[in-house]
Amino acid sequence: MVFLMKIGVIAIQGAVSEHVDALKRALVQRGRAAEIVKIKHKGIVPECNGIVIPGGESTTLCRLLAREGIAEEIKNVAARGVPVLGTCAGLILLAKEGDEQVEKTSQKLLGIMDIKVNRNAFGRQRDSFETELKVEILDSPFKGVFIRAPGIVNCGPGVSVFSHLDDLIIMAEQRNVLALAFHPELTDDLRIHQYFLDKIFNC
Ligand code: GLN
Repeated sequence: MVFLMKIGVIAIQGAVSEHVDALKRALVQRGRAAEIVKIKHKGIVPECNGIVIPGGESTTLCRLLAREGIAEEIKNVAARGVPVLGTCAGLILLAKEGDEQVEKTSQKLLGIMDIKVNRNAFGRQRDSFETELKVEILDSPFKGVFIRAPGIVNCGPGVSVFSHLDDLIIMAEQRNVLALAFHPELTDDLRIHQYFLDKIFNC
């Protein structure tokens, strides 16, 4: 029997099907096969070779992931070196530290990345926007789609910064964990999903 890699997309809320679709298309482009599973309950994360935490509303996501026992499972696999991708609200969840807004709502972040986040970093005026980004790991610009996006205000020495916007960090990596403030699943550009797949297959 051929061993098939399994990639889990946390499917509690947010842009779930867009990530599933982008992963499927990126797999085809890379000539790879993997099973993509939507995760709503405990018990699947430990079998996965990669995990995606989509955008959505981070307070709700935090609460439901903790309640379902999925939060603990993500922390464990991340500590084992399984690649984890967090986009937008997913980035907020990855952080070790949040701003006053996070403190106020007592969000229990996963804390698997040594970053401090500002939850609604771009403010009301720039609620949702698109802009061309220079991304360290890509050889040409990437269209960043931002929707009430967070930003990273501080990161520890083990974190590599891949992209900035204004004075905020909007893409960063710490070993197996990759965080994006924007939504690559809402574009046709699959380069970031391909990069994430490469992390999984080279793991
Ligand atoms: N600002 C949202 C939050 O704090 C995240 C927005 C998004 O994921 N598109 O949860």
